[in-house]
Amino acid sequence: MAETYVVDSDVGFINALAGLGAEDLKKCYQCATCSVACPISPDTRPFPRKEMIAASWGLKDKIVGNADIWLCHNCGDCSTLCPRGAKPGDALAAMREYTIMDYAKPKALYKAVSDPKKLPALLAVPAVIFLVLGLVLKLFGVNWLNFAPGAEEFWQADFINNYLVDIIMVPTFMWSVAVFALGLKRFVADMHANALAEGKTSREKIDPAGFFQALLRVVPVIFKHEKFNDCSENRERSTAHMMVLFGFIGLFIVTTCFFIADWVFHIDGPYTQLNPVKWLANVSGLALIIGSLLLIKNRYAKKDQLSRYWDWYLVGLVLALGLTGMLSQMSRLAGLAGLCYTLYFIHLMFVWTLFAYTPFSKLAHLVYRTTALAYNEYAGRQ
Ligand code: SF4
Ligand code: SF4
Repeated sequence: MAETYVVDSDVGFINALAGLGAEDLKKCYQCATCSVACPISPDTRPFPRKEMIAASWGLKDKIVGNADIWLCHNCGDCSTLCPRGAKPGDALAAMREYTIMDYAKPKALYKAVSDPKKLPALLAVPAVIFLVLGLVLKLFGVNWLNFAPGAEEFWQADFINNYLVDIIMVPTFMWSVAVFALGLKRFVADMHANALAEGKTSREKIDPAGFFQALLRVVPVIFKHEKFNDCSENRERSTAHMMVLFGFIGLFIVTTCFFIADWVFHIDGPYTQLNPVKWLANVSGLALIIGSLLLIKNRYAKKDQLSRYWDWYLVGLVLALGLTGMLSQMSRLAGLAGLCYTLYFIHLMFVWTLFAYTPFSKLAHLVYRTTALAYNEYAGRQ
């Protein structure tokens, strides 16, 4: 007797996807052109046709925790060829955003990060934290926030001491790691349950050592953007994407080096421009600026692809980080103390924003995609 499947439709899920840019989902008539067109879809149980039907029926459990939606790099090849204008590329992007929202807790923060009206309040949070903590420390004789810093032979730490920066940024970074860890634990379990139910893997259990090895194998693929470049419409975006990715990696290395120099060896700045770590900082900062500008140009040029606040928030934040960081340094070198301190303060607000809100923003896709690619590698789904 044929197996029966009880459809448990979640109308709220369908409406939520429509609100995230998948409003043409229901136009799909299951011709499968998209699955054939997609250059990175697997031969067995290819996407995105099956995701289109599952999403339009409101089958949330078949979408959230479905690793396949993270294989897609939103090139738009399938949307261009879809005969019904159902925009499967945009629909998959909406499914990924919904997934990030579903795993990131608290949800109120996702709602705030996704709402342009809340942006001023979100940016004000780090400003208040820096000012309040700096003033409280002053009451105890710790002068890490100096409202009358030097204007000659100066550098940013004369205004906000590096230790104040670190005692605020490190817990914020740890908070972000904890939010990701809790979300990813559920995400991996759900991906495995989905893969077992859909016959995408023969592995019964997740072995952490094997999963870690799979992760190591996919990291070079991600760095080289191999899958990304498989989509013909993506090649132009690839350079910009790589510049932003390597810019962040470079700045992470720089921050770690200066953190160790300060806390372990008690060597603080300002560091000479001849310092190789400084070179890396400058190159990485420039990569963020140029990469984000190229991404913005690409988004404006691609009229057929949906661009929402969710997308603009990320590219805007990357550009703001790069510009304020570089301009603060340039104004210091030019001897413009007031401008340097102001830009540095704004820069720190953006850095805090990056750390605190990443699990709730589009940048989280870097973490979820990497995990999903590692899972697919582990599960044997190529
Ligand atoms: S999304 Fe478009 S191309 Fe894909 S199955 Fe539906 S109608 Fe066909
Ligand atoms: S947007 Fe590109 S990668 Fe994503 S499903 Fe369509 S063709 Fe495949």
